[in-house]
Amino acid sequence: MLSDKILAIDGGKPVLDTSAIAWPVASESIRDAVRQALDDGSWGHYESASMELLIDKLKTNFQVDGAILCSSGTVAVELALRGAGVKANDEVILAGYDFPGNFRAVEAIGARPVLIDVVENGWVIDVGQIEPAVTNDTSAIIVSHLHGQAADLAGIRSIVDARNIGVGKRIVIVEDACQVPGGRIDGLPLGGIGNVSALSFGGSKLLSAGRGGAILSNDPDILQRARIFAQRGNEAFPLSPLQAAVLCPQFDTLGEMTVARNANAIRLIHSTSSIDDLIGLTQIVEGTLAAYYKLPWLLKDRTPGWARADFVQALQAEGVPVGEGFRGFLRRSPRRCRKVGTLVNSQIAAQQTVVLHHPVLLEAESTIDLIGEAIKKVISNSR
Ligand SMILES: *Cc1c(COP(=O)(O)O)cnc(C)c1O
Repeated sequence: MLSDKILAIDGGKPVLDTSAIAWPVASESIRDAVRQALDDGSWGHYESASMELLIDKLKTNFQVDGAILCSSGTVAVELALRGAGVKANDEVILAGYDFPGNFRAVEAIGARPVLIDVVENGWVIDVGQIEPAVTNDTSAIIVSHLHGQAADLAGIRSIVDARNIGVGKRIVIVEDACQVPGGRIDGLPLGGIGNVSALSFGGSKLLSAGRGGAILSNDPDILQRARIFAQRGNEAFPLSPLQAAVLCPQFDTLGEMTVARNANAIRLIHSTSSIDDLIGLTQIVEGTLAAYYKLPWLLKDRTPGWARADFVQALQAEGVPVGEGFRGFLRRSPRRCRKVGTLVNSQIAAQQTVVLHHPVLLEAESTIDLIGEAIKKVISNSR
């Protein structure tokens, strides 16, 4: 295998030691928040002041009127769809390359996923694919910002608004912002632009409580429907006071961390841009401040003996925290979904995406440069 060859050539010494890089990091203010939750007894309560504070911070940071806390980003997407009024047998448009749970969230309601393509050499919905996918049954479109690439929400909004004037159901834009808290388009916070949006506070995410999520909206009807679904005489998908307590202080550092990750991501995109075998990230919307949960590349198809799994394994052997992207939905049976167009870009994204996990993006420039070197070394050793 390719990676064995590389290790043999090199004698096995990794370019990078990333073993000490941890995420999430329990800062002093997070420790204080936990201590306070222990002292005031809220750690053992159903509700707490920290939960109210978290809702306030979400409203302020994402510039929305309302937020509902829940147990995960996966559930948040379903709650957002329920809030949007999606019913059984409706159609919901989503990208052929997306977080696996989003397809399942549509199915959980008994609605039908309708797959459209992502942009060429990218990971987010191609606005040009929406119109041909819309029918009178379309009730929502899930728009995910993925791998640091922001979707063109203004473009999507204008297509949906034009459509919503006519007959048929009103189409609701469900923004999946699980990967991008802190990101912005033209000064607007990602996660605050769709009719309703989903956030994740999962253990690897940029805002993290191990588990947890939220939905955000300005629309009282959307929030009310989501609340009714989540309320079963008790909260069915709760976030706990302790989770809320550790999340609140993270908003104090989100802005500076977003800027730091962004600068390092740009540095790395730049230093790898001359590599023929890789296609790096370009933003499709001008004025984007990207938030990086993962930094992506597409590995160009190269035969023989060149597979993404080998590339990823060789990079991992160099200490670079990379993995493969999502598997995409191309293989989903036509009984489970409707596919519009060729989905060729989604297929390429599913087969060729390599992503760098974000914690290294808060490291020094010298570490970023070593990652660039490791990538070049693995590529050149494979020739
Ligand atoms: C992580 C993620 C989710 C789900 O969040 P969990 O809290 O892990 O359930 C949904 N969508 C996207 C794009 C994600 O990256």
